[in-house]
Amino acid sequence: MFSKNFQRKYALTDQGIRNTRKGAFWTVIVNLIVMGGMGILYQMTTAFMDTLTDGQPLPAALPFIGLAVLFVLLSFVTHLQQYQATYGLVYNEVKATRLSLAERLRKLPLGYFGKRDLADLTETLMGDVNRMEHVWSHVLGYLYGAYISTTVIAVCLFVYDWRLAIACLWGVPVAFGLLFGTRKLSARSSERTKKAALRVSDGIQEALENVREIRATNQEDRYLDGLYQKIDAHERVTIQGELGTGIFVNAASVIMRLGVATTILVGANLILSGQIDFMLLFLFLLVITRVYAPFDQSLALIAEMFISQVSADRMNEIYDTPVADGADHFAPKGHDIVFDHVSFAYDKETVLDRVSFTAREGEVTALVGPSGSGKSTCARLAARLWDATGGTIRVGGVDISTVDPEALLADYSMVFQDVVLFDDTVMENIRLGRRGATDEEVRAAARAANCDEFVHRLPNGYDTPIGENGARLSGGERQRISIARALLKDAPIVLLDEATASLDVENETKVQGALSRLLTGKTVLVIAHRMRTVAAADKIVVLAEGRVAEEGSPADLMKKGGLYRRMVELQSQSESWKLG
Ligand code: ADP
Repeated sequence: MFSKNFQRKYALTDQGIRNTRKGAFWTVIVNLIVMGGMGILYQMTTAFMDTLTDGQPLPAALPFIGLAVLFVLLSFVTHLQQYQATYGLVYNEVKATRLSLAERLRKLPLGYFGKRDLADLTETLMGDVNRMEHVWSHVLGYLYGAYISTTVIAVCLFVYDWRLAIACLWGVPVAFGLLFGTRKLSARSSERTKKAALRVSDGIQEALENVREIRATNQEDRYLDGLYQKIDAHERVTIQGELGTGIFVNAASVIMRLGVATTILVGANLILSGQIDFMLLFLFLLVITRVYAPFDQSLALIAEMFISQVSADRMNEIYDTPVADGADHFAPKGHDIVFDHVSFAYDKETVLDRVSFTAREGEVTALVGPSGSGKSTCARLAARLWDATGGTIRVGGVDISTVDPEALLADYSMVFQDVVLFDDTVMENIRLGRRGATDEEVRAAARAANCDEFVHRLPNGYDTPIGENGARLSGGERQRISIARALLKDAPIVLLDEATASLDVENETKVQGALSRLLTGKTVLVIAHRMRTVAAADKIVVLAEGRVAEEGSPADLMKKGGLYRRMVELQSQSESWKLG
């Protein structure tokens, strides 16, 4: 019953499955003890009935009182154990699950995050785990425990009288049959609800992120209308879903309880025909109320258990995605980066096609080419943010696909166009470059990257929080923070993607100074659109449509008169272009 499949079906950790077993065990004990209580009640009633009908002396009260006290004690202790095993331990399970999902996410290749949007992932980590928590705590232990205890009780009832047993229990399989029969419907409506909810949260996130554009283009009304429609649609499918499952769950509950009526009917007939005495019917009626009780709670939540399949699937999808792992130890011989017939596709379409080139240590290698030719992709692959689909990339002779990204990235400084900043102070954002760097070291790096000038204008200098993803900073300022980070890290490989694109001329000149300090002696792979940025490079690799079109020193390529020369000429023309 609690196999590997079960564990996967409910996305339980190893500890979780052990706790579920424990929960089911204590549920069985609790249910049997409650039945024992019914037994005491039955014995008491029989004794009193004997007194009433046969004039026998009143039974001694003490044994009954003793039994009742024992029952209360046992009941208390076992309920406590059951509570611990179902509700108590589940909080650890929630924590363990979130941590194991987060740990998994940390190791997934970056490409995965491009495929699944972030609102969706957050929903899995928070919402889906919450939903599973309800199932783990309220349903699994109780339901599976009730299956076992009811089977035991059913066997006993059959031993007493099979006719009454059938009259009493037929409702249970029929009710569950109905629920399991309609579970596809529940799952489908839950999937619909989840999609509608996701559309709403995506819409809100999009609106917040693009509030400036929406206002600037006067699209507020149109956008809000769209959002309201999504909210209405969500409301509609949620109500439909609740109604659907509500009908089936209540119908199942009523069907199960019809057992009381059939037991009375069959029992009365059996008494009338003299086949059983009244006390047996009384025993069955006592028992019957307790047979249904354990199912009550799980029945109300069973729809949730069916629906939870969607959540469990989404969690399993994260567990199933192969992680980008490898050796923790990265000891290359030097830091030459070699692309050896590297091919790559984000989806189906080939973005890089057998690209080969070498970026040598101590040299600046510039990637140029028309937009969309695959330059940024090369930089991302060089840092193993994605894994190449064909060919190998070696750093100092080591195939980087065999190295754990965390170990690998210790040797990289990256200044990318899309700078990621955290909602923290300037100081902490720069310190991300090297954990444990002193404040003075951070300030020195910031000065070298020309951050000083704008940081001093902030209300609290380096201790000013910069808002979510640096919302308070301009593009150029963000980029300088990113350069400061790289300076602080001082890694042997530097990847620059359009590093100076958002800087004005004055700042660019200042930052260039800082950059040249950063770049000396390193393996530098730089992507720049502006030809004058790359004219000083040692080597240029020209990409066109995912292939290496030409490579060589800037002077050689100018002489050759190919794509590079054309790009240089085109840019010098556009730079001499003036307004009016
Ligand atoms: P460049 O840096 O030369 O402008 P890129 O490497 O950014 O070119 O892009 C190369 C191709 O890959 C483009 O066609 C682009 O649309 C596609 N591409 C880039 N990033 C992604 C991504 N995350 N998912 C899917 N396709 C992408």
